[in-house]
Amino acid sequence: MINFQYVRAHDVADAVRHIAADPSAKFIAGGTNLVDLMKQDVQRPSRLIDISQLPLNKIEETANGGMRVGALVPNADLAYHTVVARRYPMLASAILSGASAQLRNMASTGGNLLQRTRCYYFYDTAAPCNKRAPGSGCSAIAGINRMHAILGTSDSCIATHPSDMCVALAALDATVCVTGGAGTRRIAFSEFHRLPGDTPEHDTNLGSDEIITAVELPAKGFAANYTYLKIRDRLSYAFALVSVAVGLEMEADTIRDARLALGGVAHKPWRNVSAEAALRGRKANQSTFDTVAGVVLRDAKGFVHNSFKIDLARAAIVRALKQAAAGSPQSQSSKKIA
Ligand code: SF4
Repeated sequence: MINFQYVRAHDVADAVRHIAADPSAKFIAGGTNLVDLMKQDVQRPSRLIDISQLPLNKIEETANGGMRVGALVPNADLAYHTVVARRYPMLASAILSGASAQLRNMASTGGNLLQRTRCYYFYDTAAPCNKRAPGSGCSAIAGINRMHAILGTSDSCIATHPSDMCVALAALDATVCVTGGAGTRRIAFSEFHRLPGDTPEHDTNLGSDEIITAVELPAKGFAANYTYLKIRDRLSYAFALVSVAVGLEMEADTIRDARLALGGVAHKPWRNVSAEAALRGRKANQSTFDTVAGVVLRDAKGFVHNSFKIDLARAAIVRALKQAAAGSPQSQSSKKIA
């Protein structure tokens, strides 16, 4: 049992005031990750700032042809929103591939971005873990690391980011809108999450006095040629071993524009702009896709139990590009991989 204070924020400015006044406080909305972390004694916030009643639950079209998703929009509402499902089906598909229906009903858009790694040692308070206790060591590097990262790792941490939704948001080139003591700012999605480096305790570049207010989607949604392919140990309610979000703009069999991001392989959603450049102007065929998989995985490094992820990722990238080019995206209901 840990004691904590509870306060409800009345508006965004009030939420910022509360978080700025207490560095040990945490925002709570759906609570689908934070409550677990508190139950397992991984996090001990001095105060929970309830933001669930803030007016951040709208999905609106923006003047530039994109969409603005309020930070408190539940994952399920976002996935099933008529316009989102039609214009950004990659995002809807990624959300529906994750968690369970009950969790998607509770989990918020902002909370999804801020969820913490599912590294088993992070949740085991008896094990050294640099992310939970900086300087204590990383139990995963020489331990059981089957689920861990193959790209962007460091000597301090090899954890993966668990979100599916964030992989699609990275591929879509979304923007995170935040408010803090110094005002509002916009963060490119690829700059929001961090690689571990020697400070794995910091998952994101969100300031300690900042709150996510919305995520904005640009106009281009790649609705005709996309996929979200998720490879996991069981077909539902499991985190990705490897996932691939692809959006293509096709002209006959030539790729005019491309987006590609991976999940389950790094400390952050792994968008690769070099791979995207290698797709533009090329024919959509096996040779192109093999080349691109090589570009993405050029610096991949496996550990004792997860080297299989390199070959798995290579196959998944090629399969996802084929699905997207053919306009036959991965189904999240039948889950059979075509
Ligand atoms: Fe902790 Fe990261 Fe190592 Fe896991 S991989 S034990 S989260 S430092």
